[in-house]
Amino acid sequence: SKVQCKNFLRQNALLLATVVGVVLGIVVGIGMREAHLSQLDIEYFAFPGEILLRMLKMIILPLIVCSLISGISNLDQTASGKLGARAILYYMSTTLIAVIIGIVLVVSINPGKAGKESIDSTGSSMTVEPVDALTDLLRNLFPENLVQACFEQYETRREPIIAERNVTVSISNTSTVAYELTTVVEQNVTVDYQLVGSYKLGINVLGLITFCLTFGAIIGRMKEEGEILVKFFSAFNEAVMKIVKIVIWYAPVGIIFLIAGEIMKMENPAQVLEQLGLYMATVIAGLAIHGLIVLPLIYFIVVRKNPFKYLSGVLQALFTALATSSSSATLPVTLSCLENNNKIDKRVTRFVLPIGATINMDGTALYEAVAAIFIAQANGIVLNFGQIVTVSVTATFASIGAAGVPQAGLVTLIIVLSAVGLPTEDITLILAIDWLLDRIRTTVNVLGDSIGAGVIEHLSRKDLQNLEKSLFKTDDSS
Ligand code: ASP
Repeated sequence: SKVQCKNFLRQNALLLATVVGVVLGIVVGIGMREAHLSQLDIEYFAFPGEILLRMLKMIILPLIVCSLISGISNLDQTASGKLGARAILYYMSTTLIAVIIGIVLVVSINPGKAGKESIDSTGSSMTVEPVDALTDLLRNLFPENLVQACFEQYETRREPIIAERNVTVSISNTSTVAYELTTVVEQNVTVDYQLVGSYKLGINVLGLITFCLTFGAIIGRMKEEGEILVKFFSAFNEAVMKIVKIVIWYAPVGIIFLIAGEIMKMENPAQVLEQLGLYMATVIAGLAIHGLIVLPLIYFIVVRKNPFKYLSGVLQALFTALATSSSSATLPVTLSCLENNNKIDKRVTRFVLPIGATINMDGTALYEAVAAIFIAQANGIVLNFGQIVTVSVTATFASIGAAGVPQAGLVTLIIVLSAVGLPTEDITLILAIDWLLDRIRTTVNVLGDSIGAGVIEHLSRKDLQNLEKSLFKTDDSS
């Protein structure tokens, strides 16, 4: 019909504008490099991009809260349990596959064999014990203050307790003539550690997930009083998604400037390419294999539909991820694409996407595994099989722990390096190129979440149909 035709044009106009935005951003960025603008001028130049980021970030908090609460409260206990189990299974297995692809590639390509003398490293050491990283993850799951969880995350670090030096004075009879006075100062004093907790800026999404899932599950099971709340949060969610629709129209403009600004900031591209070209190629090849072959294949095997047609519906989200380097900032666009273009059941998208954007990061896991082994290679360290297994397990957990913000993966890489005793200061080796790899791995993270929503919906279609009879439906408005 006429309306459908109009809608079709509308969607594609937006997609077209986004593609043009990306291309224009690259062209403008490369062109403007010639102008040799100062750092400050580049920041002013990229201002329209900053505005896009601010708008997206503004929406994240209400969106995560409402979408999780309304998502789970519209499911019953069996359905939410099954959906949740499928989501976790999908997240864990795809992340592990990504890690394995990364490890196989980095071991066979061996991009670090050149040695680190040829790469600049200017770091100071800091280590994070994997057990501390894991307990921090759990601490953040249970925030002590919900308001604080909206903008701060808990973080602990180990501080050494240095015992007082033991000074012993002893008189020894070394000769028959004189007594000798010896002072023995024990240098190897026992050092214990204590945990010191602090807060750092950033939404504690994990904590919000815990609260919202519990709260949503409870109001979904309450009788009349619950119904009001379920309707309230579903309506709230619809309203927020309408704001997203407005922001999405501005996205192509913002994308131009975000990408151009980043290209203008790049220092010594030729040198970076020479030193880190092979490493970059390894990461990008791994991400491409995972995002363009493995995940589409999983979609095809499960859903039996064309995965690339499915992905064309979320292209705008993928480009937004490329431009913003943040799964969280992209979440509003991902939700909107999946619900409006791909018509994925809203009870699925609202439930699994906010969680996926936070914990399901295939691209980050792959990147961390490659980066850790690359650093080992650059130091001439050969990891044994056990250490490689440790790398895969910690890379998986480090990707779960990484927030959906730019370069979070580079920070949690420290956990992986610490776990196998690699020099953590060597993350500076790969710093120069992280801005680019960050974008690409974020795109794969979002791609993984999108395919996941389709796969989980398909596997859960029976449970969702059964549900339609028993529960009232709230979301047919758009
Ligand atoms: N920037 C990535 C994301 O938001 C996380 C990372 O740094 O790997 O998905």
